[in-house]
Amino acid sequence: MTDNSLDRLLQARLDQARQDSLYRTRRTLLPQGGPLVSMNGRSLINFCSNDYLGLKDHPEILSAFKSAIDEYGAGSGASSLVTGYTTAHAALEEELADFVGRERVLLCSTGYMANLGVATSLAGRDDTIIEDRLNHASLIDGARLSGANLKRYQHADIGSFKQQLKQATGDVLVMSDSLFSMDGDEAPLAELAEQCRLRFTTLMVDDAHGIGVMGPKGSGTLVARGLDTTDVPVLVGTLGKAFGTFGAFIAGSDALIDTLVQRARTYIYTTALPPALAVAGRAALGVVRAADERREQLQNLIHQLREGGRQLGLNFVDSQTPIQPLQVGEAQQALNLSNSLEALGFLVTPIRPPTVPAGTSRLRITLSASHGSEDVERLLEALDQCREN
Ligand SMILES: *Cc1c(COP(=O)(O)O)cnc(C)c1O
Repeated sequence: MTDNSLDRLLQARLDQARQDSLYRTRRTLLPQGGPLVSMNGRSLINFCSNDYLGLKDHPEILSAFKSAIDEYGAGSGASSLVTGYTTAHAALEEELADFVGRERVLLCSTGYMANLGVATSLAGRDDTIIEDRLNHASLIDGARLSGANLKRYQHADIGSFKQQLKQATGDVLVMSDSLFSMDGDEAPLAELAEQCRLRFTTLMVDDAHGIGVMGPKGSGTLVARGLDTTDVPVLVGTLGKAFGTFGAFIAGSDALIDTLVQRARTYIYTTALPPALAVAGRAALGVVRAADERREQLQNLIHQLREGGRQLGLNFVDSQTPIQPLQVGEAQQALNLSNSLEALGFLVTPIRPPTVPAGTSRLRITLSASHGSEDVERLLEALDQCREN
């Protein structure tokens, strides 16, 4: 080990994180198809991916991806405003716009960058961005990067939101997850939209976990709740979750997308998404639209897990989505439970601070249409068994 002062400082911090059960490690996995993964030579059922519809190894998407590599090459070769923007990107943008019922779409490399791009393009130093306390980190980081005054309200609490709205100065941008990634619950979208309309304030919604899963043909949480462009002028969706591929998009009016092309630095100053991924995204969109059976299977599994959990007296968070967190409390307990489940053949990562507030560490169980009901049954048995230890 080296012995300079930076490393000594870093090592002390790492040791402290370990002591606090907050030390993070990556698991090195070998995917084995469907929900199965191999880790250290053992096969485990993955209950913590965001592949909600089980599309990441769908044959139609894979074959579109493979032939697109032959046609377009492996990379995009430049940023979108130079020469990285291809017919594949344009075609996917057009189809996604139609899918979510918006004038236009801007295809971004990741949801993280899409959210940074929205916040920094629509708000600046004299403005205010208002956010739910439990919003995804990318929404928080976007607000910070924009230099706007960031105000946060109590989770899903309209009273607390109205208070922040009343005190806000400058142009106001409200940003919210639709479905919260660590709790799986839904934002009070209709009420947020109503308050924003009354105040001529822009509402932006990040539907990373809803697109593909919620609404008719998977068109998302906004469509499911009857909210349109006037209610929510800015919509972000991602392709790395239910779509089983990679990438993200911002949807809205012609003027919005045009503005982002001029201003969004996380779009302008980065290599464009590889075109083959755009083709894979298009194939995924086709599969998503036709995936009613997978969405139904997912709903059945959600019901099965919650009902089984209720019978066992397990402390599931109130969520109707594929994200089904089990509240545990302290970080060490979450870690222990995760390790016990792993020994029984299940991969469920513990979620600890700072991702979630202290004292609310949890197992974030996520369901996928690639799970069978027997997988959920065995997971419930395992949870019951771990509790007795
Ligand atoms: C996953 C996620 C993102 C980030 O999307 P990536 O494409 O993975 O960068 C953004 N917002 C929310 C709510 C998410 O869950």
